[in-house]
Amino acid sequence: MLTRLMMLGPPGAGKGTQAQLLSNKLGIPQISTGDMLRAAKAAGTELGKKAAEYMSRGDLVPDEVVVGIVKDRLAEDDTADGFILDGFPRTLVQAEALADAQVSLDAVIDVVVPEELLIERITGRMSCASCKQVYHKTFNPPETEGVCDKCGHTEFNVRADDTREVVVSRLGSYRAKTEPLRTYYADQGLLKEVDGVGEVDEVQARVLALLSEGKG
Ligand code: ADP
Ligand code: AMP
Repeated sequence: MLTRLMMLGPPGAGKGTQAQLLSNKLGIPQISTGDMLRAAKAAGTELGKKAAEYMSRGDLVPDEVVVGIVKDRLAEDDTADGFILDGFPRTLVQAEALADAQVSLDAVIDVVVPEELLIERITGRMSCASCKQVYHKTFNPPETEGVCDKCGHTEFNVRADDTREVVVSRLGSYRAKTEPLRTYYADQGLLKEVDGVGEVDEVQARVLALLSEGKG
């Protein structure tokens, strides 16, 4: 099984949803730069305040900020048997910084979803205020309305950047800066495209099938 993984794809493709499931199934940590930056913002740190300005506009946070937090996170012991990078790298500079730090990847999972569906997915996203489990108001709601399946909490959050206006800017950042990573990783033989349209479980089955195929 391949275990040093990266989830690539536009905002709303389902990277976080698939990464959470994979993390539970494989027992390896999900490393989401978006979650780490939002936690820094909530904690009111200098880094969090700086990042929040970029995030609220739908711009990418500067490379050196994100590279620093990922390097620190990858140095923790729980990454020894693998990890799932979710939302990092997002620029060629970040991908090169990862390679320079001698972090090798086994596979890059590129979740492919058409743009109209991305917007619908993002504008209906919500997450449990306690355990952060991600849901969608109509496509993927909790089993009992208003109650988190995972922890039973009854409050949910909607991300400040999940508005139609900010989504347009985030998609622009993705096309300009992140999409070139598809070619970068394809050239290294690491890119594995997954059709991200369909039920969450169907997409997960496609991801697992690709990972059990082995390298290349
Ligand atoms: P990303 O991490 O790529 O931005 P998320 O995993 O947060 O995307 O998913 C975006 C939204 O789409 C969430 O509301 C999630 O519940 C929903 N979603 C994810 N995968 C699917 C799917 N296969 N079908 C329907 N909705 C999905
Ligand atoms: P996400 O949770 O992955 O949708 O990320 C939310 C926001 O955090 C993005 O729109 C960026 O502003 C910022 N962000 C997350 N990851 C990165 C990254 N690798 N590089 C730069 N900015 C990032």
